[in-house]
Amino acid sequence: MSFRLATARAKPDRPNEDFAAVGTNAAVLLDGAGTPPGTVSGCVHGVAWYASTLGGLLLGALGSANSPAGALADSIERVNQLHADTCDLKHSETPSSTVVALRWDHAHCEYLVLADSVLVFDRTGNASPDVVTDDREAVMGAELRGPMDALHTGTPEHSRAWSDYAATLADHRNQPGGFWVASTDPSAADEAIAGRVPLDQVNAVALLSDGASRLVDRFRLTTWRATLDSLAHAGPADLIDQVRTAEHGDPDGRRWPRAKNHDDATVIYGHPRA
Ligand SMILES: [Zn+2]
Repeated sequence: MSFRLATARAKPDRPNEDFAAVGTNAAVLLDGAGTPPGTVSGCVHGVAWYASTLGGLLLGALGSANSPAGALADSIERVNQLHADTCDLKHSETPSSTVVALRWDHAHCEYLVLADSVLVFDRTGNASPDVVTDDREAVMGAELRGPMDALHTGTPEHSRAWSDYAATLADHRNQPGGFWVASTDPSAADEAIAGRVPLDQVNAVALLSDGASRLVDRFRLTTWRATLDSLAHAGPADLIDQVRTAEHGDPDGRRWPRAKNHDDATVIYGHPRA
């Protein structure tokens, strides 16, 4: 196997809340859910700790679990045990995370996608890539984000609207009929999109946090086909540079309304081979 990984934090004075890692037969990418600065979360460790701890445990568990969903459920429970004594795990703003998990053997590539990180397969013989993402939060958010998107990013009014939006959205998190993320409930793993692809049909694969996938799925400046070609030639760091260039060209979110001017951006790209 052969992989390249790049990540860039949103701001120099804030921790990177994405986590990504590649093992010999598995890869994981997580995007910790950032609540607005100043929000009380009930967890003394924070979002970056949650995403990296869950991601590390998951990468290990993928090697032996019956399924990627089983590995995720087990890892969520193990993280709970690590901070149940110090933190309020029932707090509505307890840290959470998206998850993309991939593992492969000599015959198949198995995957799991939970929440809005993106998995893209470049399949042999397919002109169009297979894009796997879980858009339940986006669908729910689209119904709620109008007041925030009407304001300019970075203004006090926008910040207040963002807090209101985040609080309303939180009421639908990990609820039937709402959207699902990795947090404290192991059963969220059963809500993930999961599947299997014959390994000999996989030319390449890309895992992206939404801070990186926004070049395609939010800014619509390019296609997934062109993005995979760019990743093959120029690599993940160049893709993140393209995202930052686009964001700098729209500093107050007039062209592309968004909660955060920059977001943590992470890309894994490569070729799974047993
Ligand atoms: Zn904690």
